[in-house]
Amino acid sequence: MKVEIINVGTELLLGEIVNTNAAEIQKACRELGFSIFYQTVVGDNPKRFKECLETAFLRGADMVITTGGLGPTADDLTKELSAEYLGLDMEFREEEAKKVFDKCSFLMGSDQIPETNYKQAYYPKGAYILENDVGTANGCVMSCDQKRIVNLPGPPKEMRYVLNHALLPYLERYREDKIYTYNINTMMIGESDMAQKLNDIVEDQKEVSIALYASEDHCRVRLAVRAKSQTEADHCVAGVKHIIEERLKDYIVEESSLNEALFAIMPPYYIEYKDDFRLSETFRLGKSYSESKEAMKLEIGKRKHLLGEIITVVIHYGDETETFEVAALKEATLSYARIESRIVANIYRFLKKKTRSKD
Ligand code: ATP
Ligand code: MG
Repeated sequence: MKVEIINVGTELLLGEIVNTNAAEIQKACRELGFSIFYQTVVGDNPKRFKECLETAFLRGADMVITTGGLGPTADDLTKELSAEYLGLDMEFREEEAKKVFDKCSFLMGSDQIPETNYKQAYYPKGAYILENDVGTANGCVMSCDQKRIVNLPGPPKEMRYVLNHALLPYLERYREDKIYTYNINTMMIGESDMAQKLNDIVEDQKEVSIALYASEDHCRVRLAVRAKSQTEADHCVAGVKHIIEERLKDYIVEESSLNEALFAIMPPYYIEYKDDFRLSETFRLGKSYSESKEAMKLEIGKRKHLLGEIITVVIHYGDETETFEVAALKEATLSYARIESRIVANIYRFLKKKTRSKD
């Protein structure tokens, strides 16, 4: 199923709030095996909202999930506009009116509830109600001519509740095979070397798709396969995964990040600063920080360059010494992530080399 998300709310466009609803719906759809190719944010504007619906269905959506604009006020129009777009009339539902009355009078502690709240008792003809037990505005699912629209409330707590308790159970019947991914993390091999080693497999990929990703200090092979279950996916990738692991066996790191990998093997260490550059307070290379003879000493200094600054790091460990440098454009303090990841990678490489030469 092709799904699009439309998040309604001018505050979203103005950057006043972060669109957390979209991310949660995307995850849920992925879990169901649905494809999401587009996501739109639109302000509280009837014409533009309907244009967004039109665009979504024109480019092939089977279902559009909206958030926001289900409240009782006059500018909350998502449900009414969705119905209008599909050509469905709104109808008053007695049982929904009772729910609105019960909830509102309970919350307000009074039997006199504003007439405007009864707006929430009107639904598009034939709509399926998505019960909202934590707020007054229910969501709903409406459809016409193969076009399905789902309206969810805007407040994140209510959205999450309705998504998990009402929408997901409803959508379960449309579940499709989902995509399972596997990552093989490697160190100390460049992207082009890796590509060369795996060239024939990558060119020959069939149901298992294979992609290589390189970051500053490590490379990752990502396998992806569509399957009904984890077991089926495991079975499907087993062959090709085994071949890749064999070819890369000297470079594979088990941990998902290099920081973690280094943390596991790092001896006690301490840092001596030679200049005014400091690593961030929270940055840790290993478990134990101790200024002892057996510890690893890191001398960190800085020098200027026409284009920026160069951080020099000297590792002293046992009777060995190794120096490396990390260049940063403009000012080193603007590139903490790069400097820290280089330090991690170089120390990791240094320690691995040491254990290998011992073997
Ligand atoms: P209400 O009854 O509160 O009016 P509503 O369904 O009409 O609910 P909105 O008015 O659009 O929803 O949004 C209510 C609040 O929920 C917003 O002020 C905002 O704080 C939050 N919100 C709305 N949309 C999102 C979103 N996509 N991501 C995160 N928060 C959101
Ligand atoms: Mg509102």
